[in-house]
Amino acid sequence: MNQTSDNTNPYPTSPVMPEMFEGNKTIQFSCHKGIGCFNACCKSIDISLTPYDIVRLKNRLAITSSEFLEHFTFPFEMEMNSIAGVKLKPVENGTACQFMTIDGCSVYEDRPTACRYYPVALLSLRRQDEYVDRNAYALVKEDHCLGHLEPRSLTIDEYRAEQGIEPYDEASRGWRQLILKKKSSGPSIGKPSKRSLQLFFMACYDIDRFREFALSDSFNMLYDISDKERATWTSDDVLMQFGFRFLRQVLFGEETIKMSEDALLVRRKQVQDSRMRLELEAAAIKAQHEDDLVDED
Ligand code: SF4
Ligand code: SF4
Repeated sequence: MNQTSDNTNPYPTSPVMPEMFEGNKTIQFSCHKGIGCFNACCKSIDISLTPYDIVRLKNRLAITSSEFLEHFTFPFEMEMNSIAGVKLKPVENGTACQFMTIDGCSVYEDRPTACRYYPVALLSLRRQDEYVDRNAYALVKEDHCLGHLEPRSLTIDEYRAEQGIEPYDEASRGWRQLILKKKSSGPSIGKPSKRSLQLFFMACYDIDRFREFALSDSFNMLYDISDKERATWTSDDVLMQFGFRFLRQVLFGEETIKMSEDALLVRRKQVQDSRMRLELEAAAIKAQHEDDLVDED
């Protein structure tokens, strides 16, 4: 059905169906080499990447996360004045994916989450009073995609299993929760500082640079982390999960990473110094005010 003529769709120009589904919803879909529209969906891309997508792709290409970001992505703002996301950059002066070949996807085994899900869209939901997110799904129907006409029925859960999505969703769950928490906490948390936004970008998307940062002397002086835990950070997956924890601490004050005694002493001293400075400033203002009153008399 042409979506633009569907009166029940409140978003008439969007190919995303307005209904939300659970995993047991049966869909009719099949995509295979030889279908008339083969590669059509990769010729004009708008694909957001998860942190795990980047890890899988940069490891497949045997390059660093910084190199991957530079050559294959561009950043975008997920919310006004807020956290950044990363999208796949198409070929120069075009709209097609850089990984598309006439035989299909050249990184198929490590293709991003959004490519695996298509034509299903994941909607992560979280109520303000809940810590865990819940998944719901929508269906995307685009005119060029003939997969919806293929005679194959399966549930969304079966489709997710077939496409190997579960490990992808599991690895990036902490990242989704950070975004949902930021969205649902709204102005009460306030606008994150530029520094914390930079940390968000590095810890989520530039894992190799985050590793250098987390293994640096200054980080070591700030946090009380055992050598045993530090040794596990050779694994991108383990470090990525630590990064999400670190960001919850930096962005939302959820202190799960112990600070070193020295760092705590320095912090206490900074708080004391700043309190003393404020008291001195207040005393100076009061004295000036009293002098002014005497002069007026
Ligand atoms: S990564 Fe592969 S599946 Fe995804 S848009 Fe690119 S070519 Fe298509
Ligand atoms: S059936 Fe849909 S997903 Fe598969 S190649 Fe065609 S447009 Fe892409």
